[in-house]
Amino acid sequence: MKKQELQFDDICSLLDINNSADELYALADEITKETKGNTVNVRGIIEFSNYCNRNCAYCGLNCHNTTLGRYRMSPDEIIETALEASDAGYKTAVLQGGEDPWFTADVFCHIIKEIKSKRDIAITLSAGEMSEEDYAAIRKAGCDRYLLKHETTDKDIYSKLHPGYNIDDRLNCLRTLKRLGFETGGGFMIGLPEQTAKTIANDLLFIKSVPCDMAGIGPFIPHPETPLKGCDSGSTELTRRAVAIARILLPDINLPATTSLGVIDKEERNKVFSGGANVIMKKVTPEKYRKLYEIYPVNHGKIKSVAEERAEINELLASIGKEWD
Ligand code: SAH
Repeated sequence: MKKQELQFDDICSLLDINNSADELYALADEITKETKGNTVNVRGIIEFSNYCNRNCAYCGLNCHNTTLGRYRMSPDEIIETALEASDAGYKTAVLQGGEDPWFTADVFCHIIKEIKSKRDIAITLSAGEMSEEDYAAIRKAGCDRYLLKHETTDKDIYSKLHPGYNIDDRLNCLRTLKRLGFETGGGFMIGLPEQTAKTIANDLLFIKSVPCDMAGIGPFIPHPETPLKGCDSGSTELTRRAVAIARILLPDINLPATTSLGVIDKEERNKVFSGGANVIMKKVTPEKYRKLYEIYPVNHGKIKSVAEERAEINELLASIGKEWD
């Protein structure tokens, strides 16, 4: 395979699992080494609230899930956790939560300014759709990046999964974030009901059109308390192919080896670092909240201190021949 402009049909053919992907992965790896070197960026994710107004049919936090105990971290707790992450070596804190109206733009601005005044750490916010005015205020407060996965660009699939919501609003949020100067993160799930290779090709081309600075591409995992509980998980192979294609379409983009890929299969997650990925996110959420941030079921294993867990990630990356930052 040569470096070339991939068109819609090329992408569909690369996503066809009857075709070998060896050359695809090799090219994605070559491009990653050129643009990112051998370094994986490790980001600390703080899951600050599991309250959510939205009804996303795949997500365990959706507002109809009455079985979930809800929590909300206080601004001071969030700030302290970010400082702890910085002290453990993280250079980015990702603040992620449901769409929780308690967290107004003013509250986010306060949190961001406090963290930024105390540590030299990049901040990514991932808190759903907001008005342009709110995004602008958050950007002005010093927020560096915003992660808003578009989930799927297919209108029908989107409206079935998000009754009452519109894909155009979400895509426009991404365009607004980009215009406001955020490093802008889109992304989507692999394995949503009714998704085809064509849907995924459109998702990848949408990311290129923004263009996004980062993209989270992860397999769907069914959650037992959601309407999609009976569906199968997304394919790890297709996920790896989509990540590799994203790297070829956008050589400089930041691409995480997503947590959901690691939840399905750690080996597959590790392989994606030699097929386009250059980022990993690690939870730094205080232990008492971790089990409650259940987007999809996760076996948390033994939870250790933020510093110990960071050391483990560094060891993992060393074991697969990577450096870290
Ligand atoms: N409220 C924020 C954060 C959402 S949760 C927002 O709207 O952006 C973060 C991401 O987890 C989602 O964007 C979605 O892509 C992913 N996710 C949610 N449920 C999932 C599931 N069951 N399987 C895999 N990924 C899921």
